[in-house]
Amino acid sequence: MSARSTRTSAKAERARRLVVSFHDLHPGSRAACTHFIEGLAGLGITRISLLVVPRWHGDAPFTEDAAFTAWLRGLAAAGHDICLHGFFHQAEAVTGNAVNRLVGTHYTAGEGEYYQIDRATARDRIDRGLHILAGEAGLPVVGFTPPAWLLSADGRAELVAAGLHYTTTFGAVDLLQLDRQLRAPTIVYSCRAAWRRGVSRIWVRFWAWVNAGAPILRIAAHPCDFDHPSIEASLWTRVRAALADGRTPATYRDLLPGAAELAPIRPRAAA
Ligand SMILES: [Zn+2]
Repeated sequence: MSARSTRTSAKAERARRLVVSFHDLHPGSRAACTHFIEGLAGLGITRISLLVVPRWHGDAPFTEDAAFTAWLRGLAAAGHDICLHGFFHQAEAVTGNAVNRLVGTHYTAGEGEYYQIDRATARDRIDRGLHILAGEAGLPVVGFTPPAWLLSADGRAELVAAGLHYTTTFGAVDLLQLDRQLRAPTIVYSCRAAWRRGVSRIWVRFWAWVNAGAPILRIAAHPCDFDHPSIEASLWTRVRAALADGRTPATYRDLLPGAAELAPIRPRAAA
């Protein structure tokens, strides 16, 4: 590595980033996403990672909604990072011990689609997802995020095989093709029950304080956050605080070395 590129990467490593993402994007959550994107633009954040579900809870592929697909293309053209987010975003029955079942059903509300996925199923869903996003919709996709950040080892192996460049866990961004994990704590809310919402706001304040020094901080918004004024207010407080703290907004794609030159993933031909 030359002295210049060493200096450049050292500088990149020192820059403290803020990665904002919107999860569970599908036609039913477009209004919440639009509201979030407009609010962020008012704060100077013009590009985020958009986690798109190809067939939300078994719905028809989102490409059947031409207006939604065109809207997504416009967002991609404006520089937003389009990320594949599961396929149905719904888990099969979770098997295994009590801990597995607790994680799979209670913690995720049955959304951990890739938590116990086997290789063949993962390959099939990744291919079908990419076929919809990158093929039919023509969106530039380089990364993946599993629903509820739960991914089996087989699932990860298939993401690597499909050529995807990143996946994310609750605590890290996993650069799949480089086998390199970047620590990246996440601020996220739970809005499923009143007690969870209350705990969540307190937890998030504490979590932001604990991770103030992290080189990469992530703020993950979900559609339901915008159904609860107290959660939404807390979300905006965290975004403003991260910016006031000098963090530079980035997408997941921006974290990849040579991001600007990366070719979007092409779906594999059907077997
Ligand atoms: Zn999700």
